[in-house]
Amino acid sequence: MKITDVEAIYLKIGDIVEECNGTQDALIVKITTDAGIVGWGEVDSSPPVIKAIFETPMSHTLSYGLRELLIGEDPFEVDRLWEKMYRGTIYYGRRGAALQAISGADIALWDIIGKACNKPIYKMMGGGYRTKIRAYASMLMPNTPAEAAAKAEKWASKGFTGLKLGWGPIGQDAANDVALVAAARKAVGPDVNIMIDAGHVWDAATAIQRARKFEEQNIYWLEEPLPPDDLDGYAQLADAVDVRISAGEEDATVAAFEELLVRGRIDLIQPDVSRAGGLTECKKIADLAHRHNKPCVPHAFSTGILLSSSLHLIASIPNGSWLEYTVESSPLVDDLMVDKIPAVDGWVNVPEGPGLGIEVNEAVLDKYRVG
Ligand code: MG
Repeated sequence: MKITDVEAIYLKIGDIVEECNGTQDALIVKITTDAGIVGWGEVDSSPPVIKAIFETPMSHTLSYGLRELLIGEDPFEVDRLWEKMYRGTIYYGRRGAALQAISGADIALWDIIGKACNKPIYKMMGGGYRTKIRAYASMLMPNTPAEAAAKAEKWASKGFTGLKLGWGPIGQDAANDVALVAAARKAVGPDVNIMIDAGHVWDAATAIQRARKFEEQNIYWLEEPLPPDDLDGYAQLADAVDVRISAGEEDATVAAFEELLVRGRIDLIQPDVSRAGGLTECKKIADLAHRHNKPCVPHAFSTGILLSSSLHLIASIPNGSWLEYTVESSPLVDDLMVDKIPAVDGWVNVPEGPGLGIEVNEAVLDKYRVG
């Protein structure tokens, strides 16, 4: 089988606004083969930047566009192709946008492999640790304690046993931070797990103070309290408090996660399959965390392509547990798949169809396509 076309498709649902939940645009990767099999992938990043990384022509031997590197190749050689893409972009890549673009291509290659073998990706990756995954409802933190209570109560009443509230007003006012978390806890009672995603707003000393306050509300983890590069701050925080400290959605490659785990001493890693290096690299990242006896809970806040990719990763690693399930609504979250992957009583089944096990609604894709 040979790759005949690689497309980076930019989707946008209207005018982009600053106050948003991150699902108003998307970058979808479509890889076509001479066997008639099409693979889908996604990159959760700046769509025009990623599109350029796919389409840019070769500049020299270490500076290629991904499309040029993949055309004519056999998708089954996914590991070799990952190295070819990494090496072929190293002059401008190694991390960040280039690794994110590689992630989308890698997901699409795995989708092709699964479809060609008529097996779900998690089985092709040696998995089957679990076929049903507990989801936490992932949402933006509203501005007031009363709204936080109402939002938490709404999703707990739908059967979610984990709720994550993130970003929004967190970090603007110490008293409000504490009141927001206390209100959510009071609304859902002691048995629902509450995760707080701070959105890198503090220094280590402030994060330690806030984490101690949040521990009084028995939160399950405190996510990204510090800027991603403050690894010594992460270590200081993780050593000072009992609550689990989590991070990793901004990072790519095993090398970066080794830094987070070893130098940053965090308790739980959150690679995003569409950003950290795709399924190929995320399996290695999860294996590294497993060696440190740490859970891997992939970050996933976009379309059903990323959601299904995350399900296959979690199903294929020993240290998988929770699934991030966005409950913020947008046409790209709700309508891009022919059948939206449902959460039922807070649980999500791993797709059992070939490849990713999802079907892209191409009419919706065309409706929101830019260019
Ligand atoms: Mg986060």
